[in-house]
Amino acid sequence: MLRAAGKALRSPRPSAWRSTAPVTINHHMANPSVAPIAAPFASAGVPSLADFADHRAAYAGIPMSYLLAQWTMLRTIALPGAVPLSMKALEVSSRIGATRLMESMVRATAFRVFCGGESMQELESVLQMLRQKDVLAVLNYAVEDEGGTDAALENNTQRIIDTVEAAAQHGGTVPFACLKPTAIAPASLFTRMTALIEAQRLANPDAPGALTFDRMQHIDVPAHSMPSAVDPASLAAVQPLTSEEQGQLSRALDRFARVCDSVQKHNLLLLIDAERSYQQPAVDMMYRWCSATYNQHTRRVYNTYQTYMLDANARIADEVRWCKRNGTHLGAKVVRGAYMHEERERAARLRIASPIQRDFAATTASYDTAMEQLFAFPDADLFIATHNVHTCMRAAQLMQQMRIPNDKVFFAQLYGMCDEVTFTLARFGYRVAKYIPFGPVDGVMPYLVRRAMENRDIMGAAVSSRKLLCREIGARAASA
Ligand SMILES: Cc1cc2nc3c(=O)[nH]c(=O)nc-3n(C[C@H](O)[C@H](O)[C@H](O)COP(=O)(O)OP(=O)(O)OC[C@H]3O[C@@H](n4cnc5c(N)ncnc54)[C@H](O)[C@@H]3O)c2cc1C
Repeated sequence: MLRAAGKALRSPRPSAWRSTAPVTINHHMANPSVAPIAAPFASAGVPSLADFADHRAAYAGIPMSYLLAQWTMLRTIALPGAVPLSMKALEVSSRIGATRLMESMVRATAFRVFCGGESMQELESVLQMLRQKDVLAVLNYAVEDEGGTDAALENNTQRIIDTVEAAAQHGGTVPFACLKPTAIAPASLFTRMTALIEAQRLANPDAPGALTFDRMQHIDVPAHSMPSAVDPASLAAVQPLTSEEQGQLSRALDRFARVCDSVQKHNLLLLIDAERSYQQPAVDMMYRWCSATYNQHTRRVYNTYQTYMLDANARIADEVRWCKRNGTHLGAKVVRGAYMHEERERAARLRIASPIQRDFAATTASYDTAMEQLFAFPDADLFIATHNVHTCMRAAQLMQQMRIPNDKVFFAQLYGMCDEVTFTLARFGYRVAKYIPFGPVDGVMPYLVRRAMENRDIMGAAVSSRKLLCREIGARAASA
């Protein structure tokens, strides 16, 4: 099998996906801002565990080369020491100037499995494959430029706008663009703003309202519950934004507005990714700023809620209250959260309480509560981003119980991960999307590192994906 896998990895991108068959999408995506009044309920039923394990149905029409590449990557990541070793190799190669060599290796392996390509053109065959399976796409220009210069942030903004324009060419099958806040504004600015928000809240916990300094006066501060994401000892000394930082904020707001304008112009939707706990309150503030303008009549912009955070449910309750008060719609992407290890290590280092749930069960309970909270708010639309089949099944059950129309909910998984979940949900008639990162290999590297680390936390899902891939590959080989 390993020999076959090696061959498949060397083969070109799967042009076999290109099909001349007419594309049939069972979703109402032509105009996502217009929700049908008598929208269909999730009548396809709740998929069972056996349905998610039906590899024949899930992988029907998917080429063998793709299956082998996926299986090989999952197998490699699972090898003890493989992830730390590859991260060390990345570090060493950049130190000794062997980045070209490393890039070629990454391009042939992880990039090929987890990314859609280096350009929009390269994405076409992936989009075609997804269309055949009734799966939508979210394009993610995955360059993460933390601490970037103004020129780099401007460049990222333009690339995101280009992505929105390219998505608009795909007749509703690419309804979303997404935005990682630290790609268009300095991460340090979000950290500073968060410290100010926390300081303000600490000074006056009963009135989580306007901040005193210039640029933020008109923005309503989200009333998070504790614990603070910031070292409380340092809060007393927090200084207002400097004039340079105010300039950064002003330019950041302008970039957010330009991306939102483009999304609105093309009648698409925008997902704002969640960041680390010590930056997220500032991202929430940006979301409210966007929401006040763009979510007045429909849900155009989605914020992300990380349910591993201790305050996730309080935060959602606060957001729902804010939306009701302001008459805005809520777009809510729900995730478990990607930075668990980093957050815990940081909290231990700073000797502050960890902001993360104590265990996986608590995160899952928080996820379930988040879905119930959001389903109960008629003006909320959900984007359920998870690879966890139990969470998908719970969402489908809640949709039935609470009579939630199909077109208020998207499910999503990352490209290169848990296709059986994606394809099964699509087969049952749910709206489901793949989050497809793309961009130049060197720029996407931090994303890939994050992905590899994250795979350690979703080993349950990765193991069952691997088993299903193995069964499907075996079944095809036997019948060949
Ligand atoms: C489409 C999509 C978009 C995403 N966007 C974002 C984003 O914007 N920001 C972001 O932060 N993440 C994002 N993620 C990643 C997400 O937060 C999760 O890290 C990832 O999806 C794994 O969670 P799961 O539910 O898929 O898998 P599962 O295997 O069910 O859950 C694994 C997750 O559970 C949590 N967990 C595991 N062990 C523990 C423990 N001991 N205590 C507490 N919690 C624990 C962690 O969050 C871990 O990542 C996105 C994921 C998807 C699919």
